Amino acid sequence: MSRFFSPKYEALEPYTPGEQPRDMKYIKLNTNESPYPPTPSVIEAVREEAGRLQLYSDPECLELTEVFAKRYGVKKENLIMTNGSDEVLNFAFMAFCDSDHPIVFPDLTYGFYPVFAKLSGIPYEEIPLRDDFTINVDDYIGIRKNIVIANPNAPTGIALPLSDIERIVASNPDNIVIIDEAYVDFGGESALCLIEKYDNLLVTGTFSKSRSLAGARLGFGFGNPAIIADLHTIRYSTNPYNVNRMTMAAGYRAICDDEYYMSNAKKIIECREFTRAELEKFGFNVLPSKANFLFAESPEIDGGELYLKLRSRGILVRHFTKERIKNFNRITVGTKEEMTALLTAIKDILKENSK
Ligand code: PMP
Repeated sequence: MSRFFSPKYEALEPYTPGEQPRDMKYIKLNTNESPYPPTPSVIEAVREEAGRLQLYSDPECLELTEVFAKRYGVKKENLIMTNGSDEVLNFAFMAFCDSDHPIVFPDLTYGFYPVFAKLSGIPYEEIPLRDDFTINVDDYIGIRKNIVIANPNAPTGIALPLSDIERIVASNPDNIVIIDEAYVDFGGESALCLIEKYDNLLVTGTFSKSRSLAGARLGFGFGNPAIIADLHTIRYSTNPYNVNRMTMAAGYRAICDDEYYMSNAKKIIECREFTRAELEKFGFNVLPSKANFLFAESPEIDGGELYLKLRSRGILVRHFTKERIKNFNRITVGTKEEMTALLTAIKDILKENSK
């Protein structure tokens, strides 16, 4: 830390992204990316747009917003496009939370939420998940605080039904409820249909997972026009050109090619269920996931050890050191070939371990 760093950030512990190592070629199952590349028309659109990079991008993100709004059956006033969904989440923390408007979220969830809170000096409370890692919905009913819930949750993959989300939103009418749907396309129920009915609901999503655009950084938020306008105020006060030209072009084409992406999501769901069944045959405890990853622990091998042994075999998964989940690994669902390689490696490791 330099002597110039503001004391207000002294206690800030930045988010730790999943590793992106370059020492060798890994089967990357650690950051919940799609194993499938973007469509050729997305790649072509990016190439074409690169020729116009001397110009700023459209701060209104108009063309992309329109095609996206049409795809989801909302008005463009219900929608904001951002630089990854991390950005819309940060904007929401900035816009709606402060020392008089604290925020709550589960104790085991997306690691960026406490970082956003600390960054903006927002008090927060972590509500423990139940022993089976599910959210106890009653903990959030009428809590009178802002709420952020990842649905499906990460790193557990467990989803809440829409009826539970609605109960939470309806019982806190004077607080913002953010539903982070980064993984919704893999079997969850979206709360998008509730934005007309509840003016306190913000639904966020991303092109990073089901749309194969993690590297482009494109996220979005759906909500009542008034809360979307507030988010634009924050956006115009930080970075009006938050979505770059190439990303806008990629997002636009991705929406046009949605069939391909939705069929990939279906393949990932099938592969998830295959992997889950195989892991269970090895004795793993695998949480019921509706996301593009599995959260699993083996009674035979410590989570950290399994992570390291897989790594030395060229397979990267994500291990967290938090006490409650340190025996688990979060495994992104890749292609069938990648998952078969993972399962073979796990089989070998368990065999070696039992000697
Ligand atoms: N929410 C959750 C629950 C996530 O796991 C992630 C991915 N790390 C994000 C939001 C942010 O994704 P992105 O910024 O790539 O849209």
